[in-house]
Amino acid sequence: MPSLCVIGLCCVRCGLRQAQDFTGYTCPDCGDEGILDVEYDYGRARQQLSADLLAREMRRDIWRYGALLPASPPEPWPGLPVGDTPLFRAARLGTYLGLDHLLVKHDGLLPTGSLKDRASAVAIAQALERGKDIVAGASTGNAASSLAGLAAAAGLRAVIFVPESAPAPKLAQLRTYGALVVAVRGTYDEAFDLCLAATRRFGWYSRNTAYNPVLSEGKKTVAFEVCEGLRWRPPDWIAVSVGDGCILGGVGKGLRDLKELGLISRLPRLLGVQAEGSAAIYNAFLDGARTAEPVRPDTLADSISVGQPRDARKALAAIRDTCGQMIAVSDEAIIEGGHLLGGLAGVFAEPAASTALAGVLAARHEGEIRPGDTVVVLVTGNGLKDPQTTALSTSEPLSVPPDEGALDTVLSALASG
Ligand SMILES: *Cc1c(COP(=O)(O)O)cnc(C)c1O
Repeated sequence: MPSLCVIGLCCVRCGLRQAQDFTGYTCPDCGDEGILDVEYDYGRARQQLSADLLAREMRRDIWRYGALLPASPPEPWPGLPVGDTPLFRAARLGTYLGLDHLLVKHDGLLPTGSLKDRASAVAIAQALERGKDIVAGASTGNAASSLAGLAAAAGLRAVIFVPESAPAPKLAQLRTYGALVVAVRGTYDEAFDLCLAATRRFGWYSRNTAYNPVLSEGKKTVAFEVCEGLRWRPPDWIAVSVGDGCILGGVGKGLRDLKELGLISRLPRLLGVQAEGSAAIYNAFLDGARTAEPVRPDTLADSISVGQPRDARKALAAIRDTCGQMIAVSDEAIIEGGHLLGGLAGVFAEPAASTALAGVLAARHEGEIRPGDTVVVLVTGNGLKDPQTTALSTSEPLSVPPDEGALDTVLSALASG
């Protein structure tokens, strides 16, 4: 078990530092605005995480990068293994996009079907370290089902706040995992605030995006896996869909960590992609701002339907640090992106995940991404999470009676039509 290399936590708003044993969530001076960033002793981490040591490491889950994570996993790790998702070339999809090197990192294949498992795994480890029995979180759906699934496996009780409008499959997942589900008759943002108030009152462990600083640390492991999978030759671009901005900020943090350790020599550029109807971070990027103004969210991609992004500062910093770009795409483009991932790569992605691909398509049209660039698209969630929306405007099945003659008639009509 690698020793912890955390040296403290730093407020992204005012820079105030907390000691490594701080058990609060946000900066005492700035309150909920004062999201913390975990800081590491990179000199120490370097001794535990070299390319050689990693090549010999048998552990495949995210804890292979334990020296750069803010909690230690209990031994043995209880339940669901998180990490080690496939990174593969999508040649046909690349050809369609005019890209020679397009890769997909498929986090829809994590145990509960979304990238959120990376964050929940670290949260569960920390909750266990702190002796908590109850973990709580608010979510558009994926963070909730992720926390509930991992909590079930680890024997913790999960209390989940979701907007009542969350897609039915996500709610079904939560209920099956045995979580206590509070369906809030309001938006995600309102569910979030209610959950924060309840966790404070009852002393539950809080898995609230951004508010809890270890979540973006878990999410950064996807950047570690991408770079290790490419044998430490980083891609030119990593495309990430953006709601609260926690994944984007986490990926940026992971890349900076790797550069500090000397495992990569340059940073890939991040392409942050938002839905036009929920584009608070994109708007801030255009304005050159360091934080985002709330919007009224309106998009079919429920996982990124966020009015008040909680991790805008880290997300915007990640774009700045990597000379990245932000782009906003329409719901039509998001649905089309899902059909392209499905039809040309065999990847079934929920709308919030196909948003990243829609962004790559737009960035190709604008000439921002060039044909020879190596591009990694993060598929953040599985299409089974919201199959109805994912399959919008696909063609209807052919309806036939169980009869060969009738099938012939229908097929010939299709061939001639
Ligand atoms: C949560 C989520 C996102 C966005 O992540 P943020 O950290 O909120 O920006 C994107 N895609 C999927 C599938 C998600 O569940």
